[in-house]
Amino acid sequence: MTLNRRTMLKLSGIAAGMLFANPLNATESKTVKSPRQAPIPTSSKKRPKVVVVGGGWSGLSIAKYTKAFAPQAEVIMVEQKDIFFSCPISNLWMVDKIDLEFITHDYLKAARNGNYTFLNATATGVDKKNQILHTSSGDIAYDILVLSVGIDYDYSRWNVDLNTEIRLRQEYPAAFKPSSEHFTLKEKIHNFKGGTFLMTVPGGNYRCLPAPYERACLIADYFKKHNIKGKILLLDENNDITIKEHGFHTAFNELYKGYINWVPNSVIEHIDLDKKVVETEFDTFTFDDASFYPHVRGGKLLELAGIAKDTVYNRLEADIDVMSYQVHGYPNIYVAGDARPMGFSKSGNTAYSEGQHVAALIAARLNHAPTPPWQSPVTLCISAVSIYPERGIFIHSEYAYDKKKKSFHFATPVSSEEWRGKVGLENGKNVYGWARSMYLDMFGA
Ligand SMILES: Cc1cc2nc3c(=O)[nH]c(=O)nc-3n(C[C@H](O)[C@H](O)[C@H](O)COP(=O)(O)OP(=O)(O)OC[C@H]3O[C@@H](n4cnc5c(N)ncnc54)[C@H](O)[C@@H]3O)c2cc1C
Repeated sequence: MTLNRRTMLKLSGIAAGMLFANPLNATESKTVKSPRQAPIPTSSKKRPKVVVVGGGWSGLSIAKYTKAFAPQAEVIMVEQKDIFFSCPISNLWMVDKIDLEFITHDYLKAARNGNYTFLNATATGVDKKNQILHTSSGDIAYDILVLSVGIDYDYSRWNVDLNTEIRLRQEYPAAFKPSSEHFTLKEKIHNFKGGTFLMTVPGGNYRCLPAPYERACLIADYFKKHNIKGKILLLDENNDITIKEHGFHTAFNELYKGYINWVPNSVIEHIDLDKKVVETEFDTFTFDDASFYPHVRGGKLLELAGIAKDTVYNRLEADIDVMSYQVHGYPNIYVAGDARPMGFSKSGNTAYSEGQHVAALIAARLNHAPTPPWQSPVTLCISAVSIYPERGIFIHSEYAYDKKKKSFHFATPVSSEEWRGKVGLENGKNVYGWARSMYLDMFGA
């Protein structure tokens, strides 16, 4: 079913009266009635309700711009964390180049400035037929639901038992999701006494292609500066560095010789955490400490909602139309950001710029306006390669769709992979300007 103008009129009129009724009444039997629970926002009966799950780079953009483009809508952003932690720039925080304040932000401020509602709760399921989102604070009826739930980790490729998986998650976290993992990894780096620090790069379309290489560079620079006799062993499942390869290869060879041992084609076949040994098809490696980055998959909620499917890149990503972002069979549900199945770079700038387009698509429906033409997300990614001094490299591109291959590719790539000299120093500084402007837009001054 497509939601045409007539259906929308119905939704905003009489039929909507039923749908927009106080959501707490919608599934009374399922709601835990605790007087201390966070109140679920109730809606006016006449206003269309747009519920966005996920307060990452995608959800923040969609919540803000949907409200801006369709002010009559009631927009609610549901996020399980109560504070925003930015993965972009976090590698610089790990090595003490910036403080925590720079990368943490206030959801309430974002919601006040964007004139939408922030609900601090975990979404636990979707009743697609009756258009109800289940959350840890109760149920919410929606007219439009957006799932911007990011990624989860897929440890299944390593064939590890449950106990090993739990230990990998807890003792050797990837730190590729905004969470406590970053704090654990930072502590590891700062307490490292020397030896081999193992890190891995997964295959598939993993989150932020350059970030594992950037992280290796910055940790190596930190070890150098603090005279730590440590070496980074970077086991890469891919046959080459996956992006900005010239910039990272030259940095590894010229700046970090003896500090970074990058090993391509390293598909892990066995992990023994007690002996601290990793086996690949070709070799056996020992380590003193580690951070294991597994393959990624779409956020768990997609699976719980019954809208996840395996793609050429990863397992369990969103089953959506790649042009309209709508779930097949459920056009009132959209999925965007890193949970999408398209081969776009899983990056913050991509998710944020895509979010503006998705908001425009939703607003056009709410405003009974023509559907805006497809608009490419923009990947703009600056990676730091050193901190003493700060130097960087970057790539910028939009995407084009190949009808024959049914896939997207970089259409207009412009990159600067020269970290030496003035250009590299400028790139190194630009990373802060980019981040500041993004935070300003998402959270307000
Ligand atoms: C180390 C590192 C460095 C990076 N550097 C860059 C960079 O320099 N530039 C760049 O552009 N990108 C960078 N990225 C990538 C960027 O962080 C991601 O691409 C971006 O966060 C994707 O946005 P998203 O909204 O799709 O997912 P997320 O930002 O992960 O947001 C998803 C949100 O959904 C919430 N959520 C999930 N499930 C539920 C649920 N059931 N109920 C409620 N809430 C839920 C999560 O808590 C989370 O807040 C980097 C990433 C890492 C890890």
